[in-house]
Amino acid sequence: MRNRSDGVELSASDLAGHLGCRHLTALDLAAANGDLAPPIWYDPGLEALQERGQELEQLYLDHLRAQGLTISMPGPHEDGAALERTLAALHDGADVIYQATLAHGRWRGRADFLQRTDSASDLGPWSYEVVDAKLVRLTRAGTILQLCLYSEIIGGLQGLLPARMHVVTPADLRPVPFRVHDYLAFHRLMQRRLAAAVDVAAVGRETYPDPVAQCDFCRWWRRCDDRRRGDDHLCFVAGIARLQIDELRGRGIATLAALADMPLPLDPKPARGAEDTYARVREQARVQLAGRRRAAPSTSRWTSPRDRACAGCQSRPKATSSSISRATPMPAAAGWNTSWAAPPAVPQSPITTPAGRSTPAPSAPRSRPSSISPWRAGSAGPTSTSITSRPMSRRPSSA
Ligand code: SF4
Repeated sequence: MRNRSDGVELSASDLAGHLGCRHLTALDLAAANGDLAPPIWYDPGLEALQERGQELEQLYLDHLRAQGLTISMPGPHEDGAALERTLAALHDGADVIYQATLAHGRWRGRADFLQRTDSASDLGPWSYEVVDAKLVRLTRAGTILQLCLYSEIIGGLQGLLPARMHVVTPADLRPVPFRVHDYLAFHRLMQRRLAAAVDVAAVGRETYPDPVAQCDFCRWWRRCDDRRRGDDHLCFVAGIARLQIDELRGRGIATLAALADMPLPLDPKPARGAEDTYARVREQARVQLAGRRRAAPSTSRWTSPRDRACAGCQSRPKATSSSISRATPMPAAAGWNTSWAAPPAVPQSPITTPAGRSTPAPSAPRSRPSSISPWRAGSAGPTSTSITSRPMSRRPSSA
């Protein structure tokens, strides 16, 4: 994303980023406008992936050369004349154009490969389709958006929208085709949403850094994580799911501390998810809050009788709010510092069972150490991924 005199310039990465996280678009826009300093971000894992990606591109390029195809290379992307060189290459009609610079209006991009087809266009008795090399087994929604964007730009340049777009994977270097028209409506919807998000009128619209899968490789992660910690976000309750967070927020419970104090049973019953699962995350929040108040962060994870029965091949009593309240602690693992999991010093309120009985609050469980991952463990995952994976469920057309 770049700010130009005539508006904000957008790329396929911005489109894929917006699909994964609306807050990312807001932060990138603030950085492009000079309101926020972009973070210095170095991820050796990401760098290794980029290197592998370049190797795959090179491999496919060698594969095309070995077939005797003519390859045109328009040159550096950053160069101001890169688009003109790509246009010249399109008119020359080479079999393959490698790393073509594409631009139309506010949209910019660079296609790994453009491959010539026999469909006539404004260029002559040929036209081009987009091919992208990806280190994946399954094509992601972001990749489809990227290919659609490039196909639309190429369609404008050659006067014919390509019928297909392709992904090359390391498996066999054979392009997997996707019909452009199958995904165009989805692509245009996302384009409109991103354009609206960066529109001047939309600046200032509040977004929040709810954790999503994209956080794992996002340059803004430190900033967003700090904000979530400052807000005592529910995602820090180990094992909580997105669905539960949404349900709890709807009840006005938005922090780990508030969840730890939440009375049970839930009244009214949760609209989504089993009631017992809310009792479980409430108990987990209590364990973590107790550790926080002792200034000795708890690395325990609360386990229900059902969990323990499963882990120990014992009988499997049905977990209920009342059975949770009588939970027996896990034995400490060898070498585990049991003082970390000592009973919490905070007073605990009794738990009311579904039958209206009050039972004593559970003693603090001692369980084996486990890392408390704020989002990954037991998470339902980001909604954006599940929503956007729908178009991908279609089988690629062989047309
Ligand atoms: S770290 Fe996560 S929440 Fe923050 S901008 Fe990146 S993807 Fe969005």
